[in-house]
Amino acid sequence: MVSLSKKLRQPIVVVLGHVDHGKTTLLDKIRGTAVVKKEAGEMTQHVGASNIPISVIEKVTEPLKKIIPLKLTIPGLLFIDTPGHELFSNLRKRGGSVADIAILVIDINEGVMPQTVESIEILKSRNVPFVIAANKIDKIPGWKPNPDTPITISLKKQDQATVKRLESLMYKLIAQLSNYDISADIFERIRDFMKTIPIVPVSARTGEGIAELLAVVAGMAQRYISEKLLYVEGPGKGVVLEVKEQPGFGTAIDVILYDGIIQERDTIILAGLNGPIVTKVRAILMPKTVTDIRVAKTELKTVELVSAAAGIRIVAPNLEDAVAGSPLYVVPQESEIDKYKRLVQEEVETVRFRKDVN
Ligand code: GDP
Repeated sequence: MVSLSKKLRQPIVVVLGHVDHGKTTLLDKIRGTAVVKKEAGEMTQHVGASNIPISVIEKVTEPLKKIIPLKLTIPGLLFIDTPGHELFSNLRKRGGSVADIAILVIDINEGVMPQTVESIEILKSRNVPFVIAANKIDKIPGWKPNPDTPITISLKKQDQATVKRLESLMYKLIAQLSNYDISADIFERIRDFMKTIPIVPVSARTGEGIAELLAVVAGMAQRYISEKLLYVEGPGKGVVLEVKEQPGFGTAIDVILYDGIIQERDTIILAGLNGPIVTKVRAILMPKTVTDIRVAKTELKTVELVSAAAGIRIVAPNLEDAVAGSPLYVVPQESEIDKYKRLVQEEVETVRFRKDVN
C-alpha cells in the first residue's frame, strides 16, 4: 500500500465477457447509478470512457459500510465505454495493459461460454486483475426484484428456495471456472483477493449487487494496485483507441491517457502505418458537461490541459495514418524526438498491427 498523502489517479476499468451476458447493460447501469447519485458539477465527461467519482462510489456503497469497510483515496473509477475484447486488445502498453482492472461478466444461468474463456485468457496474458460479475440473477426462478439494492440486502428478502438456487448456480460456476485454472469464490468469503477471484452476484437490469460490485472493484484497486496508480506529473502517456474524422477539424484520435499531462501545442509521437508520426497537438476535445451522462457525447469543447486518467480526442496534423492500439507519448523536449520515435517503433514491433483495426 502507498502512503495516503500521495496522489492517485483513477484506475482504468474494462468490462469483458461472452456476447449477450450483459456487458452493455451493466455499463449503462453503472453510469446511470452515477448520474442519480452525483452532486451537481461533479462529473467530468470523457471521450470513450465514463468517470465514476469517488463520492458516488461512497454513496452507493454506504449501506455496506459494516460488511465492506472501504477507505478509498482513489479519485474514482474510469470505465472504458466499449465492452469486449476487440477494444481491450487495443489497450495494450509496454509490458501489459492500460486497463488496471477488469470486470468479467458471466450470465449465471448460462455459465462459462467460449468468449468467457477467451476473456480469461486475454486477462491472464496481460496480467490484469479481475472481478467476476455473475449477472442476470433476476432470471433465477422465484427471484423477487429489489431495484438498486445491495445483493446482501436483497438476498434477505428472497425465499429460501430461491437463495438455494442462487447458491447452487454459484457453486456450479466456481466448479466450471476451476476447469480453467481459476480459483474463484463468492466475494464475501475471500481474504486474499489476489489469490482468489471474487464473484459478485448482480443483475444489470435491476441494479441489485451493483453496490457490492463497485465496492469490490474500488477496494481491490485501492488495496492491490495503488502503486500503479501513483500520479506522476510528467509528460503524458496514452494509447490510441480509435482514429476518426472530426467534422471541421480533419482526422482526430481518441486516446486514453493513463499517465501524466497533455497540453495544446505539445509534441506527440504515435505509431502510423508508415512509421512513427511526430506531430503537434492542435486541440484537445472533451465532451461538454451535461446533466445526463447517458446522452450521446457528441458535443465537444476544447480544453487546454488534461491529466491522467482521461479519455480525450486529439486533433493534430498528419494523423491520417494513425493506427488504433498505438502507444502515444508527449515528448518533453524537442531534443528527445528520436528517442521517443525509437520507443514507439520498438513497441510497435512487438505487436502486429492489423490494417483494418479502425
Ligand atoms: P452484451 O452483448 O454482453 O453487451 O449484452 P447486453 O448488455 O446487450 O445484454 C444482452 C441481453 O440480456 C439484453 O436483452 C439485455 O436486456 C439482457 N440483460 C442484460 N443484463 C440482464 C440482467 O441482469 N437481467 C436480465 N433479465 N436481462 C439482462
